[in-house]
Amino acid sequence: MKKMFGVIGDPIAHSMSPAMHNDLFELYGIDASYLPFRVIKDDLEDAVKGLKALGTSGFNVTIPHKTKIMPLLDKIDPLAEAIGAVNTVKNENGLFTGYNTDGPGFVKGLEGHAADFKERSALIIGAGGAARGIYLSMAKAGVKRIDIFNRTMEKAEELVKTCPYEVKSRVLNRANAERLLGEYQLIIQTTSIGMVPEVDFSPLSLENLSTKALVSDIIYNPLKTKILKDAAINGAATQNGIDMFVYQGALAFEKWTGIFPDTQRMKENVLRHLGGYTC
Ligand code: NAP
Repeated sequence: MKKMFGVIGDPIAHSMSPAMHNDLFELYGIDASYLPFRVIKDDLEDAVKGLKALGTSGFNVTIPHKTKIMPLLDKIDPLAEAIGAVNTVKNENGLFTGYNTDGPGFVKGLEGHAADFKERSALIIGAGGAARGIYLSMAKAGVKRIDIFNRTMEKAEELVKTCPYEVKSRVLNRANAERLLGEYQLIIQTTSIGMVPEVDFSPLSLENLSTKALVSDIIYNPLKTKILKDAAINGAATQNGIDMFVYQGALAFEKWTGIFPDTQRMKENVLRHLGGYTC
């Protein structure tokens, strides 16, 4: 029988996940379909019951349901529990288990740009949902120093305090982050600053940036944010948010099918959707 997968969220019409996963099902000869489902906040519980009643094999979860879905699932993976968000659900013998592949997806994408990332001193800009996943996944992977700069410092302090993995971290204000910038070989921008349509903004000045640094922005719209342009001008390496998006999808696909898919093909698929840009 054909297997059913999907993504729930609101809005969902512009999700690139259906095209990405359906292409992979075809590539690997898997008889399955992946559909987008718009689910409004008030309907989340009914939607999860419906997906279970229909025997859905798995699904992705996006804004605004990543946290609210957790009590509606049968089991939560420990990393997703620590992050406090689920983006991937797998049907395991009729029981729904929630995973988070966003943070691990970022780390997997990072390996291709900085194989030595565990030895690098990292600064994360932001302390929202995506930053939580990235911080905890990097700490779990063994990165020894990860400092955080966020507008609301209390959120960063809470994240550091509740981290179950061993890592050295300082919470910085903007002035200190800019002053100490040269210490970091890895800078990860996770705020929404610089995203379309407000593309002329950057969360901090890169005046003290080391030319040995990799600056990674998890935004992919635009593909080159202001901070990435500034980093390139300063001679640093850059990475945009396509890798995180592709690898979170690849890890979800692997959980559902046991196959780690062709990420280069996924990347080309996503770039086609974003307007034919090649990098
Ligand atoms: P979120 O939970 O709402 O967090 C937003 C973050 O941005 C917080 O740190 C917030 O700071 C900061 N921020 C927002 N506006 C700001 C401003 N004007 N000045 C200073 N700081 C500001 O959002 P999220 O889910 O983490 O997503 C953040 C970004 O990541 C979005 O652009 C999203 O598209 C992108 N993302 C990409 C991927 C991918 O696969 N590539 C995956 C997930 C998310 P405060 O704490 O002070 O409010």
